[in-house]
Amino acid sequence: MNFRFSIYFLLLNLSVFAQMGYYVEDNLKYTNNAINDDLYKINKEFQPFVKLDTIGFSEFSLPILTLKIHSESKHKKYPIWLVGNIHAREDYSSKMLMKFANLFLLSVVGLNNTYDKASKYLEFFDFYISPVVNPDGLKIAHEDWVGIEKFKDSIMKIKRIDSFSAWKANGLGVDLNSNFDDGNHLYKCTAISQEVPASEGYKGCFPAEAKETIVLQNFVNKLNPILTLSFHTKGNVLFWGDCDTYDKFNNVDSLISGKVAQKTGLKMMNLSYNPINYGCGLENYIRVKLDMLAVCVELSPMTNRREQHPDNQFNKLVWANVAQLPIIYLEELLKTKELWPNQMKNYFSEID
Ligand SMILES: [Zn+2]
Repeated sequence: MNFRFSIYFLLLNLSVFAQMGYYVEDNLKYTNNAINDDLYKINKEFQPFVKLDTIGFSEFSLPILTLKIHSESKHKKYPIWLVGNIHAREDYSSKMLMKFANLFLLSVVGLNNTYDKASKYLEFFDFYISPVVNPDGLKIAHEDWVGIEKFKDSIMKIKRIDSFSAWKANGLGVDLNSNFDDGNHLYKCTAISQEVPASEGYKGCFPAEAKETIVLQNFVNKLNPILTLSFHTKGNVLFWGDCDTYDKFNNVDSLISGKVAQKTGLKMMNLSYNPINYGCGLENYIRVKLDMLAVCVELSPMTNRREQHPDNQFNKLVWANVAQLPIIYLEELLKTKELWPNQMKNYFSEID
């Protein structure tokens, strides 16, 4: 086929693709409202494989939406939770999850081949995808004040370390990933720690102080996912385990993340040893309280700026490396089934 025909067929495919429900904003700023609109469209378009739920509300009363992707199966199915944008400025993480969800669903219905075994994975797993768990923070980072105007004065009074685009906390200046009730709140203290509410670095007065933290803890306590991937955007690395919980997983945690690192080029970090640094994250809470696997996935190369790389670099800096990452995790998880500790084999979930 000559070049002109190739381009013609490429454009034809793209236009068919667009009509059939690819909604994700890959290149521009992907606002909280646009993400929610796209989740509603996906929920409408991809029945019966999806179910959209509000799992709770933020400090500013914005809904925290979670998309379940599932199908009928004769097998026992394991819940998997994919979480994005717990840190406001790291919105590559919500693009990542929206793009994954949309292309996975198009693969399920045979309109795309990014995930050629998508239907097979739905026989074993139910996916729960929460692209934006810190909607107030995301709106602040985008300086998108529509709907949160009445909070603007109080936001302006919060200590700001840098520009709004570097905002990491929730709407009240609490870093959500330093506020989970994993038993380390008293000790948690990092180089960027703040004593007062701030755009980053403030762990809150007490564990699970932030509404969003409570919503996420309540949800995960009920869901009891055997694997959670929480997406962030600094450094192309995997924080897969810590010394307090390492002996709970019979090595499954290091085996699966090791394979993912090999196949994606992301770096597997050493086991985290000091709860002063690593404590109070969502992943720590899940490992300590639920005895289930949880990994913090840092997307995109390290930068010396606070903000992540520009929106239009997402496909090059993130997607090109990690499009298959969630699937590789599941593939490796199934391969290690013999090694699963009892709490994973005998999981229970109160959500269906
Ligand atoms: Zn982060």
